[in-house]
Amino acid sequence: MNVLLIGPPGSGKGTQGERLAQRLGLEHIAAGDLLRAEVEAQTPLGRRVADFLTRGDLVPDAVILGLLMPRVLAAADASGYLLDGFPRSVEQALEARKLADQADAGPHAVIYLDAPRDELVRRILARAEIEDRTDDNPHTVGNRLEVFDDATRPLVDYYRERGLLHVIDANQDEDAVTAEILAALDGAATG
Ligand code: AMP
Repeated sequence: MNVLLIGPPGSGKGTQGERLAQRLGLEHIAAGDLLRAEVEAQTPLGRRVADFLTRGDLVPDAVILGLLMPRVLAAADASGYLLDGFPRSVEQALEARKLADQADAGPHAVIYLDAPRDELVRRILARAEIEDRTDDNPHTVGNRLEVFDDATRPLVDYYRERGLLHVIDANQDEDAVTAEILAALDGAATG
């Protein structure tokens, strides 16, 4: 099975992505983690994207597609993927679809983690105390939420129209969110 996990920053994509991939035996591909690893290793790609991450802006489509699509296609060909943080715009979804459809590697279900804005901000700033991310600060958080609203939220309708969307209430404890997602995917798999 191939699953997309989309949601605003702070909605729990990383945590749920890891859990679901493990529970379902899927390869967890996390766009943000892969980009941060490139920045940390100071690769040419990492140097190119570092400022985008610090500002909370989306990196150019060609960069993210080049980084992710080979992994996505390989995972689809193996056990399936749990893709978190990609696509983040309808343009990215359309580009990815061109490549994925040829290989029969498109998503079977799309999970949208929904939570109110004040809860998202609270979680991101709490995470800032624990993790050392350059983009978890009050200044960048506002921009990341705005980028989500402008670029990423339109994906919700895009996938709803394609009949793939499952909206999950992410404003619950982590175990309840995981259970709700698993139930939705179970329903999707059995039709
Ligand atoms: P995340 O860990 O998913 O919150 O992603 C952290 C940052 O990585 C984002 O704020 C963007 O700068 C960049 N990023 C992650 N996924 C994408 C994507 N699909 N397209 C463009 N930029 C992305």
